[in-house]
Amino acid sequence: MGSLDTSVPFRVFRCPKCKEFINTTMSQCRFCGSPVVASAAKAAVEVQTKLNAVCFDASYVMVFALGMVLASPFALGYLFPFDQLRGVIVFGLCFLAVPFLTIRSLWRIKTIDRPDEPAIRRAKPTLQRALAIWIVMIAVLVVIGIARMTSR
Ligand SMILES: [Zn+2]
Repeated sequence: MGSLDTSVPFRVFRCPKCKEFINTTMSQCRFCGSPVVASAAKAAVEVQTKLNAVCFDASYVMVFALGMVLASPFALGYLFPFDQLRGVIVFGLCFLAVPFLTIRSLWRIKTIDRPDEPAIRRAKPTLQRALAIWIVMIAVLVVIGIARMTSR
């Protein structure tokens, strides 16, 4: 089987042999010349799609983690108490987004099962850091909550 059938859409993926980026319209890799097999190309495209999604999530998860930290004094009413609702909304969205993006990405990383992939090695510490900030934030909220209850 030399060329791909037309049911495979045009997608970019890494050559399984030389790891250069090629696409599904090629019958052989233009870098190393190894034949592109439809099933292998399809599997590689799936991995590449997941990798792209992980990179996308990792690039946004820190924005939400920092957004959560920055919104917390507003949400708690320490800054601009007259505008507390807006702070609560921003904080709430960030607070939900961090674990959602992190767990989704860590699950994708698990299903890709390629820990040595450079994109994964870059994304994973970012995801873990964002999750750590999220956990610290919960601890801070619990402490503040207890302090407020006992001072009443
Ligand atoms: Zn190749």
